[in-house]
Parts: sequence; structure tokens; C-alpha cells
Amino acid sequence: MKVLLTQEQLSEGIRRLGEQIQQRYQGKPLTLIGVFSGSVMLLADLIRLLDMPLRIEVLEERRGLRGDRPGPPAINIDQLRCDVEGRHVLLVDDIYATGQTLWELVPQLDELNPASVHSVVLLRKQGMQTAPLSPNFVGFEIPGDVYVVGYGLDYQDRYRNLPYLAVLEPQDKEARWP
Ligand code: 5GP
Ligand code: MG
Repeated sequence: MKVLLTQEQLSEGIRRLGEQIQQRYQGKPLTLIGVFSGSVMLLADLIRLLDMPLRIEVLEERRGLRGDRPGPPAINIDQLRCDVEGRHVLLVDDIYATGQTLWELVPQLDELNPASVHSVVLLRKQGMQTAPLSPNFVGFEIPGDVYVVGYGLDYQDRYRNLPYLAVLEPQDKEARWP
């Protein structure tokens, strides 16, 4: 596994994101919504940098019985209604690749009449975008042709808990835990 961003580099990038978000939403009612489990590390680090009242939610990924994803991401409207209506919403996602995930989520949130919907991603893969929607805050640009793990991002449930970001290499796919 090759380290792409160290813990120090990650925290410096997240500190910059925190400053931008603090400036953008100062004094406004803000709800941060984590996009699935991959976002929890960024969400936890980010909110500790924000000095303002805020609410958080984490979207649950719909999975089939065997743990695979059955379809496009869908949100639980009832869970979110009171945290979205009339408030500024900031979607928090680990990585932006094609952009399809955010592109499918934003119209669903718009139906709940938020004051605004924007997005922050830790990473953006270069040259992969197909959706007509770009993230508003980006921590780091990374090459489009690598698969990264760590800091919330997994490969088949592994490596999510690494405190740094690494590029997955072929031998890492075979590594077995007892
Ligand atoms: P998009 O909808 O923007 O194409 O894809 C975003 C989602 O794809 C991410 O939230 C993440 O779940 C997954 N993804 C894309 N690239 C990577 C990667 O390099 N590593 C991991 N672990 N997940 C990725
Ligand atoms: Mg994700």
C-alpha cells in the first residue's frame, strides 16, 4: 500500500475546508449531512473545526441482504425533514468521482425546501466527472486512475480505519485477516 496523503496532510487540508465553511455559513442555520459510512471521519473532524450552532445527520446506504448496494442512493425523507426545511444543507462526502452520487441526492433534498444545498468532499478524482454538478468545497485533487482507501474509505469493508489515505495495490486485495 502506498501512502498518498499522510495524517498531517489530511488534517491541514481539513483545517482549510473548515475555515472556508466557517466563513461561508457564519451565523446561518446549518445542517451537515454525511453521505454514507465513508463520510464519518471527515464529518467528525470537520465539525470540531466549526464554531457555530449546527445539526448533523448521516444518510444510510440501502443494502441488499448480502450487503451489496441494490440501487441508486435514496434518502429517508421523514428522518431529514425537520433538519433540512429552511436550513442551509452541506452534504459531506468522502470522495467525488463521477459525481452521480451527489447528483442523485441533491434533487431529493431540494424537495424538502432547504435554504441552500451545497457539498464538501475530501477528495476529487481528476477526469472522472460525468454529472453536471461539481462539489463546492474540495479538500484534495487526486488522480482518477487510482483506488484509494483509508480515512473512511474501504475496500470490501477493509482499510476504512486507516488514519491516512493510501493507494490500494494488487497485493492488498489478497491480504487476509484471521
Ligand atoms: P461517484 O458517484 O462520484 O462516482 O462516486 C462516489 C463514490 O464512489 C464514493 O462515495 C465512494 O463510495 C466510491 N468511490 C469512488 N472512488 C473510490 C476510491 O478510490 N476508493 C473508494 N474506497 N471508494 C471510491
Ligand atoms: Mg461514498
